[in-house]
Amino acid sequence: MERTFAIIKPDAVAARHTGRIIQRIEEAGFQIRAMRMRHLSKAEAEGFYAVHRERPFFPSLTTFMSSGPSVVMALEAPDAIRKWRTLMGATDPAKADAGTLRKEFGRSIENNATHGSDAPETAAFELGYFFPGIDLIG
Ligand code: ATP
Ligand code: MG
Repeated sequence: MERTFAIIKPDAVAARHTGRIIQRIEEAGFQIRAMRMRHLSKAEAEGFYAVHRERPFFPSLTTFMSSGPSVVMALEAPDAIRKWRTLMGATDPAKADAGTLRKEFGRSIENNATHGSDAPETAAFELGYFFPGIDLIG
């Protein structure tokens, strides 16, 4: 079993796609081990995406991520990190495969509905960032 960290981003929460995205997560075979709604501060978004701080889109990305509530989750499945990135689809919804969440719910390369950790090290950092000191259920 593996755990990954997922976010339903502010665009998808505002568009009331939360329920449908959670349904897709469960239907794909993930166990949700932790889940919380959070309105990130700008500073929290900057810390979370610190790896991108030199990118030109960093100010816009962190403003977007702090623009409204998100849903943060710990997902568990065999090969969860890769499996969740596959279900999300490509970063740019216009390039995402049919049947992926970003294809269905994303609006732009920035407003792309979901986030997922990209490696075991980032999953460990991101799970700890949002669920510090919590024993994940199960
Ligand atoms: P995430 O880390 O959110 O799961 P990702 O790993 O597919 O997405 P990254 O390259 O890590 O993509 O970019 C992080 C986020 O920054 C993207 O999900 C998107 O919201 C935003 N982003 C990425 N590239 C651009 C861009 N060229 N212009 C605007 N925003 C971008
Ligand atoms: Mg990323």
